[in-house]
Amino acid sequence: MARAELNEYDSIINNIQDGYFETDLAGSFTYANVAACEICGYPKDEIIGLNYRQYTDATNGKKAFSAFNKIYKSGDAGKLINYEIVRKDGTRRQVEISASLILDRSGKPVGFRGTTRDITNRRQMEENLQRSEERYRTIIDNIEDAYFEVDLKGKFTFVNDALCESLGYFWDELIGMDHRHYAEESTVRELFALFNRVYRTGAPVKAYSFELSRKDGRKGFCEISVTLIRDKQGKPVGFRGIARDVTERKQFEEQIRHLATHDTLTGLINSFMFRELLQENIDYAHRYGKRFALFFMDLDGFKIINDTLGHEAGDQVLVECAARLRRTLRASDCIARLGGDEFVMLLRDVSRLEEVTLLADKILSTIREPVDLGGSEYVVTGSMGISIYPQDGEDVHTLMKTADLAMYSAKEKGKDNFQIFSPEVKPLLHEKSLFGELLRFALERNELFLEYQPRLNLKTGAISGVEALLRWRNPTLGSVAPLQFIPVAESTGQIIPIGRWVLQKACLQNVAWQRQGLARVSISVNISQRQLLDEQLIGDIEDALAESGLDPELLELEIAERTILSNLPRIIDVLKGIKDIGVQLVVDDFGSGYSSLSQIRYFPIDSFKVDRSLISGAPANEISKVVIRAIFEIGKLLDLTVVSEGVETPEQLAFVRASSCDLMQGFYFSKPVSPDEIAALLREHVPRPL
Ligand code: C2E
Ligand code: MG
Ligand code: MG
Repeated sequence: MARAELNEYDSIINNIQDGYFETDLAGSFTYANVAACEICGYPKDEIIGLNYRQYTDATNGKKAFSAFNKIYKSGDAGKLINYEIVRKDGTRRQVEISASLILDRSGKPVGFRGTTRDITNRRQMEENLQRSEERYRTIIDNIEDAYFEVDLKGKFTFVNDALCESLGYFWDELIGMDHRHYAEESTVRELFALFNRVYRTGAPVKAYSFELSRKDGRKGFCEISVTLIRDKQGKPVGFRGIARDVTERKQFEEQIRHLATHDTLTGLINSFMFRELLQENIDYAHRYGKRFALFFMDLDGFKIINDTLGHEAGDQVLVECAARLRRTLRASDCIARLGGDEFVMLLRDVSRLEEVTLLADKILSTIREPVDLGGSEYVVTGSMGISIYPQDGEDVHTLMKTADLAMYSAKEKGKDNFQIFSPEVKPLLHEKSLFGELLRFALERNELFLEYQPRLNLKTGAISGVEALLRWRNPTLGSVAPLQFIPVAESTGQIIPIGRWVLQKACLQNVAWQRQGLARVSISVNISQRQLLDEQLIGDIEDALAESGLDPELLELEIAERTILSNLPRIIDVLKGIKDIGVQLVVDDFGSGYSSLSQIRYFPIDSFKVDRSLISGAPANEISKVVIRAIFEIGKLLDLTVVSEGVETPEQLAFVRASSCDLMQGFYFSKPVSPDEIAALLREHVPRPL
């Protein structure tokens, strides 16, 4: 087409989005439409005559030359030549050109014509995409979690190394496999249902755990998160997800559950579990009008063996006694060790006096048989108290209490005998109402005061906080231990005003220390179940903070594990309310009850304090050690601060420090002391790594 004819199409050409141009054989523009001018960045009147060398650098100029030269020599149209141009304003753009020869009437080449397109943005996008794809691949290959993609039928279409490893298959074996290859039938059904749900709702599923079988037949636990893959049109084409091997965590949890319900030394159930079983038996006996007996035994002279022959000998005696009790009683009877040298037994079908007497005699005589300790024989005896349901108590507490009282009278009667509870010892039970009576006035008569126990950071050795502990000194009763009067205050409700007072006092005290220029430490206050469920609690905390001016961050509330895990409604809301004020939450006495770590993670807590009973087992006891380490480990996983409570010996300290515990509290560093003594400690204590 000649120039003149072309001009007729000028307006059309100027309206197309791609650049259209014509050049002479040397590569100088003879024509350019609006788009071509824009791409090159020159106005229309300057572009005519402009040579390609003027708007390319040397490298790109060569590239352009050879491409056009090829077209000239071959006569073929050059498809999609790419190079970079430099616009008039100096900016650089990527262009894509397709060009062909312009021939005159005799067929002689006179120039080139072609279209051009600015592909800078597209290039950029392509590069980004490629880079992100590479990045994505590296991440997938390197993550420890297993990554997979499956098609709509559940067959693997992509797996990373971690997945191959955890299932024990090679990559090419896995591709094409579905759930049936690595899960039992019932699990397969669950998995299909799970994927189906993701398919139907489009909503991802998080942390779904199931049991899997590896290629070698070993079982494991795995937790998967799954999302839907859609194609460009939004149509589901498969699923992708992450799988995590949680076998070890499951085993930890199992171990911990066992620990929470069993005595690690003897393997008998512990006091917590025993109380649960006792409650179940009471319910049953109540419903069917049955009776049963509770035997409460304390060893005589055990302390002497422990003190003279050492703890190991003491442990051996306890293990031996447990074994003998097991041999003497039926498999269906419950035997528990309550701690120390106290054992308790629940005998379901024994309630008539003759049966009880016969069995009690039998137990005491097996206990009386000599124990071999390192070649020498020692005799240990037991004193036993017996209570009968329902006559000696209709609830757990009373039944245990009456058996305990009967046991004391057996001790008084010269040990190595048993006593069945009789109402003569009952007056002692009034202790509870006596406490209640006297406690009512304790606050107003200034009989209550606080002591404080410091807590050390194990890394720096600095004092990081103190725990406020309530004390009661009464003119009639003398000093009463918190474990004796706090349960009473709980049951009468007096813990509410008392607890409010503790909060105020502790916050004020902490501010007082700060005013003396001492180090900023946190103060922790124990909150019992009754308080936690009190509607006023949040208000009380806010008041105590406002009155004292204490930074909320420096206040910690300690709540016992059994309260947190009590499944009472509202607990989680109250905890959230407390967190909203900015106060720290600590789970106290962790590991003393049902320590379900999998449950703990759903609560908004900052740290947990491992119970003294666990710490006292370490480092002598291997199982305690394993379990404590597991608890610490999981604490770390959940990003919680871990505190050890009741550290008394250098060995315990060394153990908890080596097991990467964060904080410790215990007699080894300091007993609970007065505010002045804390001030002196804060002033004089030189932090050094412990
Ligand atoms: P807790 O909160 O677990 O407090 C720790 C207890 O362990 C304290 O007993 C403390 O004196 C003791 N302790 C600390 N280190 C060691 C150690 O190395 N060895 C030994 N053998 N014991 C150690 P305490 O003062 O008798 O308090 C007992 C419990 O009474 C507390 O247990 C807490 O649950 C409760 N309690 C104390 N003060 C309050 C309070 O103000 N309000 C409420 N609701 N409960 C409180
Ligand atoms: Mg505490
Ligand atoms: Mg505690």
